Amino acid sequence: MHRLVPFVFVLLLLVAPAQAQQAAPSGSTSDEAAVETRRPIPYPIQPRPSFQRAVEKGTRTTDGTPGENYWTNYARYDLNAEITPSDSMLHGSGTITFINRSPDSLRTLALHLRQNVHAQGMERTRRAEITGGMTVENLAFDGQDMVELTSRADLRREGMGYVTDATRMRVILPQSVAPGDSVTLSTEWSFRVPGEDNFRMGQDGEVYYLAYWYPHLAVYDDVDGWVAELYQGDGEFYMGYADYELSVTVPEGWIVGATGKLQNPEEVLAEQTQSRLEQAANTSDIVNVVTEEDRGAGTATANATNEDGTLTWTFQADQVRDVAFGTSAKYVWDATSAETNEGSSMIHSMYRPGTSQWDRSAEFSQFSIEHLSDMLMPYPYPHMTAVEGIIGGGMEFPMITLIGGNRNSPESLFGVTYHEISHMWVPMIVGTNEKRHAWLDEGTTTFNENEGASEFFGTDNWVPSENWFYRFAGSAQEAPSMRHADLYPSDGPQRVYASYAKPGTMLHALRGVLGDETFFEAYREYVDRWAYKHPTPYDFFNTFEDVSGQELDWFWRGAFYEKWSLDHAIESVDTSGDQPTVTVEDRDNLVMPVILKATYADGETVTRKTDVTPWMNGERSVTITLPAGDLEKVELDPEAYLPDVDRTNNDWTK
Ligand SMILES: [Zn+2]
Repeated sequence: MHRLVPFVFVLLLLVAPAQAQQAAPSGSTSDEAAVETRRPIPYPIQPRPSFQRAVEKGTRTTDGTPGENYWTNYARYDLNAEITPSDSMLHGSGTITFINRSPDSLRTLALHLRQNVHAQGMERTRRAEITGGMTVENLAFDGQDMVELTSRADLRREGMGYVTDATRMRVILPQSVAPGDSVTLSTEWSFRVPGEDNFRMGQDGEVYYLAYWYPHLAVYDDVDGWVAELYQGDGEFYMGYADYELSVTVPEGWIVGATGKLQNPEEVLAEQTQSRLEQAANTSDIVNVVTEEDRGAGTATANATNEDGTLTWTFQADQVRDVAFGTSAKYVWDATSAETNEGSSMIHSMYRPGTSQWDRSAEFSQFSIEHLSDMLMPYPYPHMTAVEGIIGGGMEFPMITLIGGNRNSPESLFGVTYHEISHMWVPMIVGTNEKRHAWLDEGTTTFNENEGASEFFGTDNWVPSENWFYRFAGSAQEAPSMRHADLYPSDGPQRVYASYAKPGTMLHALRGVLGDETFFEAYREYVDRWAYKHPTPYDFFNTFEDVSGQELDWFWRGAFYEKWSLDHAIESVDTSGDQPTVTVEDRDNLVMPVILKATYADGETVTRKTDVTPWMNGERSVTITLPAGDLEKVELDPEAYLPDVDRTNNDWTK
């Protein structure tokens, strides 16, 4: 990206019309020819000024590695949650320690109160049940209560205190947090847990899934400072890394799955459950830890140790960006272990008995963790837990995913499971901004999911008949991927198409461009470089260019910024000379190399991949000369790497 200076492109643009005129068919005027052959030529990617400033400050680089001055802030949370199913309430309390590793003194802290997406009058991109949102009962700094103000103007005037602003909270501290220092806030809060048919969390009377449930520090990063955008529904998250201590209090008999390693199994689990879990930790077979008959206090969980008939489960998680948990008295519990190449990790699956396909959930999770550990990097966390219920699709949280119930096929549950588990790598480990660049996590995840499903079922999920991308490619439903997730129409497929199917398919095309070895080397390098950090798209682009040694702005521009389609077509095949020639026409606007396979009468095959120079020069066709021989068949992109929207013109047979 950084290698091609802009003036080269200016020259190309000046040269292109001249070439177009030369290529004009006889009889037409040069003006008509220029129009006929005019094509958009991908222009260089210019990183935002804030990124360029970060390069100057040495926190970012132009080769895709984090700069030598790169930093992230950090935090420690000690959180307590109590769920009371009788009134659907969550009561929370805890401390939040912000550790300032930035070079800036910070007097203002920004936090998310995402539960307020359920408050009256919020700006939303999705329908949401109105629960009133989160009530922050108090907030103290170093043990002293802070004053709650009602507007940001008041906050500015007072110069100290906190104010709730929709789904955010702004805190002005009595004094700045200097670089290297930390500050601890303590707080109590509560909210009514929304019912089912909500998004990403909620309760259905039997299952409670708690996410976005505590005041959560926004990210203060090296490129943009505080990034605390509204939670409106569609656009997802941007979260910093932290260590967590979590305690969850629920009635006895309720099983809890959560981010983090369970710290007190002997206090909250029945002995039988503990011994079956130990068994599961040492086998790749699925162990039924809690069966339908085992459910309840004394057999699944321990008997209550709190006077009010509850148990308090404690968890600890290091270097995660969030904590969430699911709980139900109705769940059964399967467990096994998965090999991560650096040891093993526990696999847990919690679901209501009889939920279709879920008896294979642990098997699917085990495969996903192992496949992704091989493909990207070893899974670093102590467990991966899938819990069933509430929502339609699936939602990812560190070490845990919530997946909606009955599935009509193994492929369906496998697909969602693999997808959500793939998110453990991006955006959980590689901490991208999902709101601004949803394609960075959903596109990579869609790519991974197709790889995983193809491997598991022995299918090819990239073939156009299986790939959802082709349903909307080139249609009015298509929108560019480089767009804020809350800026797509809320009632159309544009956001999902631009964030999932399209970038996933474009990454498959990139693999076709670079070849498997280089593509995966670059992909792994990107994950490795940016683990527990916050890459932007430029860091992604630069890493692929750095590893491949190729300038790829033409690819990024077409794949992620525009909504151009690809249609390569065999225009003609000439076998009259010593060597056969194939003329390939580019009938649409997306710039991609030509991948061509020729088959000869004796069974020999030749594969050719052109570079994109002719298209960048404004050409609309290219002629490829093949080795001499009795040519029998020519196919364009026979393995369907490229997103060619019309494959009816891709083959020639003698
Ligand atoms: Zn996803």
